[in-house]
Amino acid sequence: MAKWVYMFTEGNATMRNLLGGKGANLAEMTNLGLPVPQGFTVTTEACTQYYEDGRQINDEIMGQIMEAIDKMEGITGKKFGDKENPLLVSVRSGARASMPGMMDTILNLGLNEEVVETLSKASGNPRWAWDCYRRFIQMFSDVVMEVGKKYFEELIDKMKADRGVKQDVELTAEDLKELANQFKAEYKEKIGADFPSDPKEQLMEAVKAVFRSWDNPRANVYRRDNDIPYSWGTAVNVQMMAFGNMGDDCGTGVAFTRDPATGENGLFGEFLTNAQGEDVVAGVRTPMHISEMEEKFPEAFVQFKQVCETLEKHYRDMQDMEFTVEHGKLYMLQTRNGKRTAKAALKIACDLVDEGMRTEEEAVAMIDPRNLDSLLHPQFDAAALKAATPMAKALGASPGAACGKIVFTADDAVEWAARGEKVVLVRLETSPEDITGMKSAQGILTVRGGMTSHAAVVARGMGTCCVSGCGDITMDEANKKFTLAGKEYHEGDCISLDGSTGNIYDGIIPTVDATIAGEFGRIMGWADKYRTMKVRTNADTPADAKKARELGAEGIGLCRTEHMFFEGNRIDAFREMICSETVEEREAALAKILPEQQGDFEKLYEALEGNPVTIRFLDPPLHEFVPTEEEDIKKLADAQGKTVEQIKAIIDGLHEFNPMMGHRGCRLAVTYPEIAKMQTSAVIRAAINVKKAHPDWNVKPEIMIPLVGDIKELKYVKKFVVETADAEIAAAGSDLEYEVGTMIEIPRAALTADDIAKEADFFCFGTNDLTQMTYGFSRDDAGKFLDAYYDAKIFENDPFAKLDQTGVGKLMNMAIELGKPVNPNLHVGICGEHGGDPSSVEFCNKIGLDYVSCSPFRVPIARLAAAQAAI
Ligand code: PEP
Ligand code: MG
Repeated sequence: MAKWVYMFTEGNATMRNLLGGKGANLAEMTNLGLPVPQGFTVTTEACTQYYEDGRQINDEIMGQIMEAIDKMEGITGKKFGDKENPLLVSVRSGARASMPGMMDTILNLGLNEEVVETLSKASGNPRWAWDCYRRFIQMFSDVVMEVGKKYFEELIDKMKADRGVKQDVELTAEDLKELANQFKAEYKEKIGADFPSDPKEQLMEAVKAVFRSWDNPRANVYRRDNDIPYSWGTAVNVQMMAFGNMGDDCGTGVAFTRDPATGENGLFGEFLTNAQGEDVVAGVRTPMHISEMEEKFPEAFVQFKQVCETLEKHYRDMQDMEFTVEHGKLYMLQTRNGKRTAKAALKIACDLVDEGMRTEEEAVAMIDPRNLDSLLHPQFDAAALKAATPMAKALGASPGAACGKIVFTADDAVEWAARGEKVVLVRLETSPEDITGMKSAQGILTVRGGMTSHAAVVARGMGTCCVSGCGDITMDEANKKFTLAGKEYHEGDCISLDGSTGNIYDGIIPTVDATIAGEFGRIMGWADKYRTMKVRTNADTPADAKKARELGAEGIGLCRTEHMFFEGNRIDAFREMICSETVEEREAALAKILPEQQGDFEKLYEALEGNPVTIRFLDPPLHEFVPTEEEDIKKLADAQGKTVEQIKAIIDGLHEFNPMMGHRGCRLAVTYPEIAKMQTSAVIRAAINVKKAHPDWNVKPEIMIPLVGDIKELKYVKKFVVETADAEIAAAGSDLEYEVGTMIEIPRAALTADDIAKEADFFCFGTNDLTQMTYGFSRDDAGKFLDAYYDAKIFENDPFAKLDQTGVGKLMNMAIELGKPVNPNLHVGICGEHGGDPSSVEFCNKIGLDYVSCSPFRVPIARLAAAQAAI
């Protein structure tokens, strides 16, 4: 019989896959002898089984849960539904990888009309007992039965208004009792049945709800963003309740062993007296700093500090903990490696090495490469910032600078961003449903909540700027307006946020590119030491190339030459080239372009200082360049000595039904060899000049022919290239060497790579096109239907962002295995978008690529991912 349920005493930290992070760590803390309210974990495999069984908990799992309850009753001396000493539990999700706020939690489970009376009498604290009960009804109704939270919140607001009080804590036991009754009536009205009173029935429903929450939309979005497979499932933790809301000698808190924003070593966190955990995390009340706990609960605080030390030493990483103090006694509810900003991640990793807790390799492995993005994101322009005065200040919850138009709902954020607006999402507080809206926004501003509130944690994870807890705002969400610093702001008004300082500014403050410093260099140095794969960049301009070099690129893996034709008035000559009807006409136009291209290439070689540069010959369909405006058509006609009608006829002739599979790539060179010849001359002349100026640099052009599917295409084009190049080199009396290679971006090229390798000095996988043609998905249109694919669980990720290792990857592997034996000197890289995606980089390392090439800002990410793949 499979084992589906583990008591905390039966597990340990290595069982994360089976018990989820929370369950494994609760077991580990139990083993360490820390004060953990006892309970059990229903495994992630039980979750997977629940889905396999058609969303049912089977008898075997159910039986094991019931046994575990018996054991728990034995350990705690309390009993479910007991009139003397009732057991109350929390039911919480816990996946392998932490997914803060994405899934569901239910507290105070086990309460019913009789139990609440018992608790009320036994504790001598009826207010607390009724507060627990009304919270439970509220959470159970919302999470398990999906009765919207808002109905209950309205009832609370009404009760507070009736009683003339502002805070929940000012409501009396009688008020709360009445609220509980109102809640149950609401439940009955919405569900059509009485609120369940049997604790075991409540528990089974709650476990199902947690399993079900694995598949809720926000969890699906979060998983997609964080590369967490759907197949993992979530565990469920059932734990005896410890009460932080039993009075003023009780409380609850969330704390980090180091500052999650800066990485500074020292306790950092928040605490609320007379409250339950959800109050801190949900950001409903703004909590006090953890240091104030020392005054209120000196003994528990000393003990807590010891626990922090024990846990950090044990896990050798910064911990994020949840705890409760019940009548002055400390209970640990959770520990995990804390989420942190990129800046903090780098500092913590370096400090842990300096403190002797981690090796360099481990430090490199600790950093999530995607997190570096936030270091590379815009900051405010310093001069503009100096001139600006903040109108308010709140918590700098997630760093970076943001400016944009105010929107008040997540949906509006998505909609406005889709039409190209930059938006700042302003909310009373964010809830997990807001995740897509948060993603669409440049920044997030919340009225309530602390550094550990949902908005703060999620924004930090996304690397999106967030300022939280701005209590100075008087919010009117219903009418989409708020007042701050004496000014009324409406939807569409502009605002700027500094997520590092928490400053809020009126209007737009321009942003500038990020500069990276501090521990970044140290970690990158270690990454470079341990990685074996090179990292190049996709750069078309000298400025991009320079930026990429600063970020550590070791060469250019792809220069898309077509991007050079839009500069200045070059497009005119290019259009003349396209609309030529004879070779002579075309050559005349190309002659105008040649010096421009040569100049560009010289600058690229200069910027790369002898590092390799791969120049890809013209690739896109010609119709992308033709004029559409009447005025431009006339200008072209005049320049060509043709009539407007003639030009229009040529343009019509260029129309293609399926341009991505049309007249592009090496097909252009086959039809117009003079284009490839011109580009060869430009590359070779540029290289000769730069080599002359810098004899010590290793200038060796790599000419790359795109979209080859047949060896004969490559042979045909290569012939012109080699003839032209050799003639240029001979004429200059130079000894320049060069290579001619090809992109592998058509499945047939991969399938016949043994042939192609005979002619190619190198392969570079163009995985954008290779994905497009392997799946038969248009890379420009797939976005329209991918959402349906995610919903239907056909895809978990966009295959244009994260490499499909099973299919496209198999073709890549095949191409390497076929190509290398034929040409042992063949070097192989990737320059599709996947070259900057960490999991794809890992795959590239595994199949033996020499380098990955990605956009400049993703170079550090690729360097780190390559090191992690090698470690
Ligand atoms: C590719 O197809 O992956 C590639 C790099 O080329 P492009 O995106 O220019 O088609
Ligand atoms: Mg391509």
